Formats: sequence, C-alpha cells, structure tokens
Amino acid sequence: MIIDIHTHAFPDNLAGEAMNKLAYSSKVKPSFDGSISGLLSSMDRAGIEKAAVLNIATKPEQVFNIIKWCLKIKSDRIVPFASVHPDNGDIKDLIKRIKGEGLLGIKLHPMYQDFYLDDDKMFFIYEEVAVNGLILIFHTGLDIAFRSDRRAEVKRLKRVIGKIPGLKIVATHTGSWQMWNDVLSEIAGLDVWLETSMTLKYIEDKKIFLEILKKHSPDRIMFGTDAPWSDQKEEVELINDLDISNELKYRIFSENAQKLLSL
Ligand SMILES: [Zn+2]
Repeated sequence: MIIDIHTHAFPDNLAGEAMNKLAYSSKVKPSFDGSISGLLSSMDRAGIEKAAVLNIATKPEQVFNIIKWCLKIKSDRIVPFASVHPDNGDIKDLIKRIKGEGLLGIKLHPMYQDFYLDDDKMFFIYEEVAVNGLILIFHTGLDIAFRSDRRAEVKRLKRVIGKIPGLKIVATHTGSWQMWNDVLSEIAGLDVWLETSMTLKYIEDKKIFLEILKKHSPDRIMFGTDAPWSDQKEEVELINDLDISNELKYRIFSENAQKLLSL
C-alpha cells in the first residue's frame, strides 16, 4: 500500500480559479485538475492507496470552511489536514476543534501565511498542536513560487525541532526544498519526519538524497508528491528507481506514514 503524505485539492467550485492562480505563480503545469475526483484518478494511475490532502489558510476567516471541507472529503483514501492562520484570534479553540473533529493535524506555510518558521509568536501555536497530539506539517525550504524567500529556511526549521516536547513535525520536500546540502548537514538525524515530494526531480546530485537517507532515521521518512504540482506516478517511479533496499522503500512508501497517521 502506497501512502502519499503531501497532496492538494480544492472544492469543485474553487478548483478552477485556485489552480489557475497557483499554476501561474509556480509556473508548473499541474498533473490533475485540483479536484478530489482528479486526485483519486491520479492516485489510481500511480498505484497510491491513500493520500493526505493538505490545506493552507491564507486568510484567518478561511479556517472554518477548511475544517468543514476536511470533514466532507475525509474517507478511506483521503486523509485531510486542516490549517490555522497565525492571525486567528482563537487559535487554542480552533486547534482543539480540529482535534475534536477527528482530524490528524494541520499544515502551515510561511510564504502563504506570512510568518517565519522560528517567529516567537508561532511557538504558542506549535505548543497547542503538541498538547492536542496533532501532527504539524510545515512547508520547508525555498518555494517554487517564491524562489528567493527564506522564511522557511533550514536554520529556522532547526530552531523549532526539539523545542516543544512531543511535537510531531513533518518537514516537506525532504526537509527543505532546494536546500538539500543544508538538510544533510543540519537536519538529517534530528527528531523530525521528512517527506520526499518534489525532491528527486529537482535535486542535481541524487547522492545527496541517499546520504540524507543514510543519516536520517529510517522510520522518519515518508513518500510525498505535492500533487498536482508534481506527477504522482513519476514520483513513485523516482523512489522505486533508487538504489536502496526494498525494506527501506516499504518504510518510505507505507509503513512510516501508517504509523504516524495511525492507519
Ligand atoms: Zn504542497
């Protein structure tokens, strides 16, 4: 069973506009139309059984609709992650509500939500996530739509890891997009889950990825794609082509996410 820990989808009435905007700013041709049915077909083509759909609240008032939409799309194959916005006044209640609804965690994105990963004001949010036993997925590294923005850079991620007891952090794009040398020296081996989306097709030297795998705990790395901003089938093949043991592939594709998501 392959689990994709990083995908995106939008409600049918918003998908068209959202996809146009995002495709324009990222200059990436999407691999499906941004709808849940499009995602499910993409999963079928790639042999992916379950996918986490990650939401990002770009405005505080979106959080309620995001929670509603998460509950609507939650299924055997779709594991939705909600979001909060740093400017929400009632973060404590919102996070409690997300937990109470049975959702597993939230995604936060420094560029789309205007914060630095290691901002003092963010630690209150991180603590609430930990206290409620939720999972915190961060966009990390540079971003394809904000290529020189350093708000999610490695040294900031490093300042968050290990600071809050019990906080489960997932760092996207193998620890930081386009900063993989720094991930190898600063992040690999730390108490954080890495997911592999948008890495192997962008990394110049695949050896660095293999070195990160060697240095990092084998039960803290998971398969992700960031679809529709990457093609799920292609990302599956890129992992399958790696010169690593089948056992490690099984952990990456399936076992580690099963454990983290308690599936
Ligand atoms: Zn993403």
